Amino acid sequence: MEPEIYPKEQHGIEINQIDSKALYILEKLRAAKHTAYLVGGSVRDLLLHKKPKDFDISTSARPEEIKSLFSNCILIGKRFRLAHIRFGRKVIEVSTFRAGDTENEALITEDNIWGSPEKDAMRRDFTINGLFYDSANETIIDYVGGYHDIKKKYLRSIGQPYLRFKQDPVRMIRCLKFQARFGLEVDREAELAMIDCKKEIKKSAQARVLEELLRMLESGSASPFFKLMTDHGILQQLLPTIASFLETPEGDEIYSFLTEADLTVHEPHEPRLERPVLIGCLVFPIVEKGLKTHFLDREKIPHMGEIFQEINVIIDSIFNVFFRLPRKIRVSTVDLLVSQYRMTPFEKIKKRKIRIPNIPDFYLSLQFLQLRARLEPAFLEIAENWSKLYEEKQDREPETHPITRYKKRS
Ligand code: ATP
Ligand code: MG
Repeated sequence: MEPEIYPKEQHGIEINQIDSKALYILEKLRAAKHTAYLVGGSVRDLLLHKKPKDFDISTSARPEEIKSLFSNCILIGKRFRLAHIRFGRKVIEVSTFRAGDTENEALITEDNIWGSPEKDAMRRDFTINGLFYDSANETIIDYVGGYHDIKKKYLRSIGQPYLRFKQDPVRMIRCLKFQARFGLEVDREAELAMIDCKKEIKKSAQARVLEELLRMLESGSASPFFKLMTDHGILQQLLPTIASFLETPEGDEIYSFLTEADLTVHEPHEPRLERPVLIGCLVFPIVEKGLKTHFLDREKIPHMGEIFQEINVIIDSIFNVFFRLPRKIRVSTVDLLVSQYRMTPFEKIKKRKIRIPNIPDFYLSLQFLQLRARLEPAFLEIAENWSKLYEEKQDREPETHPITRYKKRS
């Protein structure tokens, strides 16, 4: 099949919008007589006038050939073998053109059969993600009709959505992710396929699902994304406790946290919220409610040990159906949730002396308290007091992790 070719005058992408390291890799691959294009998310983002997060490259060179060309290259992945080319902290992913099986509904467990650029475009998930950019002549190469779909803001599967979602159910999450992030209209067939295939999501690798969810928490579109995940019944498969909570009026509390986290992303000078803080946004209202119910008819105020224990029980009940949180992130999340009850105890304890506890990640607890204070101004003063105290500790112990200071929102 002949692709559509769009010249620069039509697509309008300037070469200087593309990462210089990516251009260097493309050139070097071409000089070694390989075909090499920019592909996927970066081409899509540039056409949507968004700043790309990363610049992925697809090439006719095999992994070993890529490795032999670049000294700063390592090969990774088993299910999906690809090259990472490293420049300091920046990594550019280079993958060999693949030929996926787009006709078969069996779950894909390996994706390492090499193919042509056309085959490579066809095995990608959505038309908007199937475009190549050829930096040699600044053209866009389109085998899948993605260029027009981007212009129409239309999200369409490449191939039959029912088959493509069965092959790899993570594509359903990705479908809702692009809808939430770019406000695209989703193809009707894909909508119907999601209804039929939602239970399949549990067949996916837990790590991939968790990574997509975490990336969406960081994306600036977490609130619409979790709404779509719930409305489509997909979150119910993965995190039923959160999904049920989101379906009740109390769910608005979670959405408020997510919206606040989203706003932070859109303010370019604000520090990024870290992953445990973002998970905190997703679960804090559930934890609050759980603790209140648990300690309700107690006369004594629960002590921190009891709170710690109960929060662990709640977190385990939330993350147990499909996946558990990786240990490190779980520990940090629990710590920051427990700390909230140290800083804003259930009942005001008069004249209690405040002291920064010896928790390695205490700055995350403060980051979360500041976020709460944005939603509930009554906490502003408390957040300020703790932040000051923390900064004093930092003056004494310079190795302490710095805290983030968020500006007051006007
Ligand atoms: P993001 O901006 O979140 O990185 P992305 O589309 O770039 O979005 P990546 O996970 O970086 O997502 O994937 C890069 C490209 O690989 C995609 O644009 C798409 O072409 C292809 N791809 C990713 N996941 C799948 C999948 N599950 N099935 C088919 N193709 C996929
Ligand atoms: Mg990407």
